[in-house]
Amino acid sequence: MLKVIRGGTVVTASDTIKADVLIDGEQIAAVGAIGAVDAETIDAAGCFVLPGLIDNHTHMSMPFGGTTSADDYDTGTQAAAAGGVTCIVDFGLQMEPNGLQSSLEQWLGRAEGTAHVDYGFHMAITKADDQTFKDMQAMVDQGVSSFKVFLAYKDALMVTDDLFVTALERSVEVGGIVQVHAENGWVIDHLVRRALGEGNTAPIYHALTRPESVEAEATSRAIRLAEMAGAPVYIVHVSCEASAREIIAARARGVHVFGETCIQYLFLDINDLKRPAPEGARYVCSPPLRDASNQDFMWDALSFGHLQSISTDHCPFNDEQKALGKDDFSKIPNGLSAIQHRLALMWEHGVKTGRMSPSKLVDVTSTAIAKQFGMHPQKGTIAPGADADLVIFDPNREHRFSLETAFSNVGYDIFDGQRTSGSARQTLSRGTVVFDNGAILTKPGHGRFVKRGPFNAALHGDTKA
Ligand SMILES: [Zn+2]
Repeated sequence: MLKVIRGGTVVTASDTIKADVLIDGEQIAAVGAIGAVDAETIDAAGCFVLPGLIDNHTHMSMPFGGTTSADDYDTGTQAAAAGGVTCIVDFGLQMEPNGLQSSLEQWLGRAEGTAHVDYGFHMAITKADDQTFKDMQAMVDQGVSSFKVFLAYKDALMVTDDLFVTALERSVEVGGIVQVHAENGWVIDHLVRRALGEGNTAPIYHALTRPESVEAEATSRAIRLAEMAGAPVYIVHVSCEASAREIIAARARGVHVFGETCIQYLFLDINDLKRPAPEGARYVCSPPLRDASNQDFMWDALSFGHLQSISTDHCPFNDEQKALGKDDFSKIPNGLSAIQHRLALMWEHGVKTGRMSPSKLVDVTSTAIAKQFGMHPQKGTIAPGADADLVIFDPNREHRFSLETAFSNVGYDIFDGQRTSGSARQTLSRGTVVFDNGAILTKPGHGRFVKRGPFNAALHGDTKA
């Protein structure tokens, strides 16, 4: 079954060219001037054809603070497809000591038969022990080649530095990469207890008890320990200039560190936490939203390649769930609903303003991520043999952010009232149109598990790590 996307402007991380894209079944067969063929035609005149975005930081159906994130793999990947996302890498959490296998199976079971776009998993190590470190090899063998540790969430998810270093050392042996949630959990605990003791319970204190320094310190520590272990390391959700500067300094001295930011740190700020209830709690995430004075630096860091990618940390909780913390900010489930919004916002405020080229946008939202997480060139590019994961972006298809246009199950839109002049018109996953002009066409289960390859240092111009 052939399809041909005609008349669009094809954008990859390196090129922007007028070209047609021929799709044979699930893969791209050719890119260029395609002559007459017996194929279903999709007209992309006036539009840009991009590799489907990859969101490597999502939390669907995730247990947190006594509740579960509001999107499952069905609604969450509908929202993904509506925003041009064709692959997510979601976080599985180690739920019990003595290994990772049972937790992986739990997460595979949740996603099986429900997703609309492809999905992979990272595995978070939360109860590190001998069997857990041993199981890291089995994870890589099964296509789960990235791990996560938390230096925050004391007494819940946090691991101590000795166990973090063990995970780093082991990641090198097994061909994986460790991702780090870099905030100092001990110091946050101290600041939270003091704030609550003084009767400060409102959502804004979530941000005030997680200042930039506790993130920058943990970022620096994570990098220094990775440097010592000779391991690559990936810092998730970098929120502020102070942390980004730690990454920039480390890369300048040759450390193999990657930095990811998320759209909330470019488009929202600490004042959103001061909105009247119930809205303020909707903006509670960790690291917290920062002073807006960080944003220009974060944009530049992304545009200049000091930070390599941008995802969303999609982890939605509805108002009822957020109300668990109405009298105590530390009990507000952490997370935002953002998976649908990255492309439209980045185009509007990045490409249209001249902050980044279309190719740079493709790189930071798709290609770099595919390379970092063992999916390139199957995903993250438009080339013969790659999966036909594509988004047709119409720069003149206005999007108004509202509950009516949002596919997430969270019950509100954190960008409500904003608009962008362009948005995704169609999203194809392995050649199948998932999203078409406001409608989801696939049934749950179209999306498949992606078995990812090991971390490949050579793709990043570094063979030391
Ligand atoms: Zn996260």
